[in-house]
Amino acid sequence: MTCVTRFAPSPTGPLHLGHAFSAFIAHDMARASGGRFLLRIEDIDTTRSRPQWDTQILDDLAWLGLTWDGPVMRQTDRLDAYRAALDTLWQQGLLYPCTCTRRDIATALSAPQEGADPPMGPDGVIYPGTCRDLSPRTGPIPTEAALRLDLGAALHHPRYTFTETGTPANGTPRTMTRSADVLLSQVGDIVLSRKDFLGSYHLSVILDDAAQQITHVTRGEDLFDATWIHVVLQVLLSLPTPTYHHHRLVRDETGKRLAKRDDARSLATYRSEGRTPDDIRHLAGLAPSSL
Ligand code: GLU
Ligand code: ZN
Repeated sequence: MTCVTRFAPSPTGPLHLGHAFSAFIAHDMARASGGRFLLRIEDIDTTRSRPQWDTQILDDLAWLGLTWDGPVMRQTDRLDAYRAALDTLWQQGLLYPCTCTRRDIATALSAPQEGADPPMGPDGVIYPGTCRDLSPRTGPIPTEAALRLDLGAALHHPRYTFTETGTPANGTPRTMTRSADVLLSQVGDIVLSRKDFLGSYHLSVILDDAAQQITHVTRGEDLFDATWIHVVLQVLLSLPTPTYHHHRLVRDETGKRLAKRDDARSLATYRSEGRTPDDIRHLAGLAPSSL
């Protein structure tokens, strides 16, 4: 099987060392196996994405010496696909509109369990289900509210699995399994379409990975829990589940993971200081490129 990987940055800030690491992992895995490395700009969140960062990302990747195959995919060109998938899930009665604010959710959660921290899922606190049964799930798909997945109704299997692989150099693939009961309590009803834009990270990422025929998704281990959402959605929408490789996160000297706002470690800063792409590989803890 040809290995197809992707790098999927969001144009919401400058690329930093952590992004470079992630891009190198995906690129090197594809190239080492004679496969394909694709680029996707995850600009679905139009409230935070900026064309300036999109341009800068392409420029930084070219500077790193990374070449990608085929055209760049942009999520803002894919709204029809997201709408079609939302329609499918709505027709199946699996979505419901939710108008809760963060504050509404916090209030609903604080009432029964005074003092205790509310359980956290991949998207933050687990939604208490306030809007789940408030409106009929018939007629045209609601567009004026966020849409949540009724996870209890969506979990059709007793357990869900995906394959976690190491890099080609190290690692036997492992089957990861989680039961529907555990997913229900650890994930909850996640948002699949936001009020301010059509779709969500979770919905678009699985549709895009399928459309780009990605066989190996490489990304940070911070997204490990989100992968369960993706597996559930792939099953619901009859899409293949790729193999996943969740890589370590690049941290600063104090052990803190790098963030977008960490301008000091942006690639642009390293470039302006005269560092080379091999310096970046080294700083990210990778061996010099042999490809
Ligand atoms: N767009 C996401 C990010 O910038 C990555 C998504 C993914 O790899 O699944 O963090
Ligand atoms: Zn709600």
